[in-house]
Amino acid sequence: MAIDLVLRRDWNARAPRGDYTQLDSTKGVKVHYTGGRVDPGIVSDHAQCVAMVRSIQGYHMDGNGWIDIGYTYVTCPHRKVFEGRGLHHLPAANGPGLNAGHYAVLGLVGNAGLVQPTDGILHAILDAIQYVRDHGRAGKEIKGHRDGYATDCPGDPLYAWVKRGAPRPGNSGPTAPPFPGRLLKYPPVIQGEDVRTWQAQMSTRGWELDVDGAYGSASREVCLRFQRQQGQDDDGIVGPITWRLAWEAPIG
Ligand SMILES: [Zn+2]
Ligand SMILES: [Zn+2]
Repeated sequence: MAIDLVLRRDWNARAPRGDYTQLDSTKGVKVHYTGGRVDPGIVSDHAQCVAMVRSIQGYHMDGNGWIDIGYTYVTCPHRKVFEGRGLHHLPAANGPGLNAGHYAVLGLVGNAGLVQPTDGILHAILDAIQYVRDHGRAGKEIKGHRDGYATDCPGDPLYAWVKRGAPRPGNSGPTAPPFPGRLLKYPPVIQGEDVRTWQAQMSTRGWELDVDGAYGSASREVCLRFQRQQGQDDDGIVGPITWRLAWEAPIG
C-alpha cells in the first residue's frame, strides 16, 4: 500500500517561521511518541488526529520557539502520514546535535491514554520510513529517540517494537524458525545445526559463505555486513533479532 500522505495544507498547518536547514541525507529515522496523554478516542475519530497534530505544531512553535513542528512526519492510527517538515529538512525533535543524523517520525501514542501503538500507527511509521528512504536519502537505521539521548521517548511499547527490528504488523511474509536459544558468535568457532540453518538462509539471501555448520570468522564477517545493511548494531553475533531478520527482512 502506498503512503497515505496528509499534506500540510490538508491539516491546515501554519507556515514555518523561517527557512529550514537543508539536509542531504540521514542515517535513518528516529521514532518518537508524544510523551503526554493521547485520548484513545482518536482511534475512531481522525478529526482528533488532525487537531492533535495542529496542537503539537503550536506547542513546538509557541512553546519551544521552533520555526515549525519538530517532526519530519507524524503518523496516526488511520495509517495516515502527516507531512511535518518533510524531506531534506532538518528536524528539531531528536535533541541538540542529533537532528542531522536522523529524520524524526512521531507515532500518535503517549505515556497515558493511548499507550500501545495500533497496527495502523505501526504501518504508517513504516510507510513514512520507506518514503524517506525512497525519496529523502535516508539510510537503514531505525532507532528510538532514547537512543543516544536522555528521554523516555518513544515509550516502552514503541521502543520494544523498534528493538524487534520494526516488523510490519500481521506480516504475512516468511517467518523465521524459532531462535535456537544460544548466540551464534566467534571466537571460538562454534558448530551445530543451528549454525548450518543460519548459513543456509544467508546463502539463500545471496551472501557468499560456506554452509558447513561452523561459525567462524567468515560467518562473523557476513553477520557484521548483514547487520549494517539492516541498520542494526553490528556486533557480529547472531542473536534473536539478527536471526529473525535473516528470514523476515526484505531482500534487496
Ligand atoms: Zn521524542
Ligand atoms: Zn488519524
